[in-house]
Amino acid sequence: MTVTAPSATTTETAGLPRPYQSYVYAYPHKTSYRPLAPRPLLRDLWAGEPRQALSLYLHIPFCEVRCGFCNLFTRVGAPEGLTGRYLDALERQAAAVREALGDEEPVRFANAAFGGGTPTFLEAEELARLCDIAEHRMGADLRAVPLSVEASPATATADRLAVLAERGTTRLSLGVQSFVEAEARAAVRPQRRADVEAALGRIRDSRIPVLNIDLIYGIDGQTAASWRLSLDAALAWRPEEVYLYPLYVRPLTGLGRHADPAAADRAWDEQRLRRYREGRDHLLAHGYEQVSMRMFRRADAPPQGPDDHACQTDGMIGLGCGARSYTSSLHYSFDYAVDMREIRAIVDAYTATEDFTRAVHGRYVERDEARRRHLLQSLLQAGGLAVAEYRERFGSLPHEDFPAELAAFAARGWLADTGPDLLRLSPEGLAHSDAVGPGLFSAAVRAAMAAYEPK
Ligand code: SF4
Repeated sequence: MTVTAPSATTTETAGLPRPYQSYVYAYPHKTSYRPLAPRPLLRDLWAGEPRQALSLYLHIPFCEVRCGFCNLFTRVGAPEGLTGRYLDALERQAAAVREALGDEEPVRFANAAFGGGTPTFLEAEELARLCDIAEHRMGADLRAVPLSVEASPATATADRLAVLAERGTTRLSLGVQSFVEAEARAAVRPQRRADVEAALGRIRDSRIPVLNIDLIYGIDGQTAASWRLSLDAALAWRPEEVYLYPLYVRPLTGLGRHADPAAADRAWDEQRLRRYREGRDHLLAHGYEQVSMRMFRRADAPPQGPDDHACQTDGMIGLGCGARSYTSSLHYSFDYAVDMREIRAIVDAYTATEDFTRAVHGRYVERDEARRRHLLQSLLQAGGLAVAEYRERFGSLPHEDFPAELAAFAARGWLADTGPDLLRLSPEGLAHSDAVGPGLFSAAVRAAMAAYEPK
């Protein structure tokens, strides 16, 4: 599971940006989206857009439990018939979007992903239907492109995995978070280690080529030793990928009870930075390469499609009520909420929707924002930003466009000394990725995010 973060209430400690402000997995953040008026027709939005290497994302907003650390767009459980109605709506949306893309030029999907929520909350036959929608309605050739699917231990059952493997899944990402049962409970995601190990065994048996294991650091009660235990338990499966996520919701026990909240925040930041460095060093010592602050890939694993950032220039088609779509000028989705009641209402509204021909909620991405997005998404990768590519795309240099931001990063020691052709974070900069990203938000996006009223 991808764990997102709310913006921190306090972004600075003693004049230095706090290291954990927000996980920028997409820019601009959805809280800067607004209802679109007028609502543009998808047909017009996609006219003239490149469609040779689109990404396809299908969002399944259901989970068995709500993990204490998660603020993704997902609901707990589904009353009788809801998943079927949700798939009906997905099918209607897919038909409308595919028609909007037209047939004048060939449409090709370069990769696909099922995310959530927990896509494997769906039963095996529902997963088969989900694949049918991607293939038959959208025209994605799932067996020929990388297909990534997220799962939880309890829902990674043999019958579901068999469907996913047979339909071409190349990467299965399992949200383990911790192999220590007390930590799993503390993170409000109770699970038995034996069940997690059994799920990992089933995934390996399914022969899906890439296994990703998500782990979380910063959990109440987690120590260097217990963190090492989780890392080693994950490594025992030789996963092709490991994601290390910092916990973002300060536990209400332990540090959370501290009399001085600012001191508690500082202590928690320091603790998470320590765990991050321990985790990073441990994985590097065991044959993994760092791809971004969170992502590590086994050096001898076969490459399996895109890393944890969207391609800089190609479009994305998102289907489902929490999925975003990107054209070169508009990022759009449906309404967004984190409160459970609101999420349920949005899911219900989505399943009742008949007309999917227009974008309803989103944000136009002007040229300045496209530069920021390019810089931000490249810089947050360990490989950094190729200056020549940036210049070719925008006709300028990153240092000319963002002198103040880059000078501030350099002053903090966050930029590596790489010469004029490459802009890359130093190891310290990478450790502070969740401050680097927000440091590149435009004033307009910042203002829109600040004005967003959580619901
Ligand atoms: S299973 Fe994943 S998406 Fe669902 S609540 Fe937990 S972290 Fe969030």
